[in-house]
Amino acid sequence: MNTSRKRITFHNTFHNTKAVSFAKVMQDGTLELSDSQVRRASRKLCGMSDCECGTFRGPICDDEGDRYYWDYNSQKPKLVPASFQNREE
Ligand SMILES: [Zn+2]
Repeated sequence: MNTSRKRITFHNTFHNTKAVSFAKVMQDGTLELSDSQVRRASRKLCGMSDCECGTFRGPICDDEGDRYYWDYNSQKPKLVPASFQNREE
């Protein structure tokens, strides 16, 4: 089974920075990132440990312009497409 990946761009509107990651596309359409990918993106977006910007402060989108949000209930770093918000649980 080959794993497809999607290019995701994170924006930080506070520092005006962005970071690109290649997230793993899961079967249900959500995206998964490794902890190191998240760390790398965080460093590019802010990089200051005592900063209060929130690091992932701004839109998260793919190359088609679709928006994503963090799934804070997930144990692994996971992104959920904005279109899923209308989906029945
Ligand atoms: Zn910051």
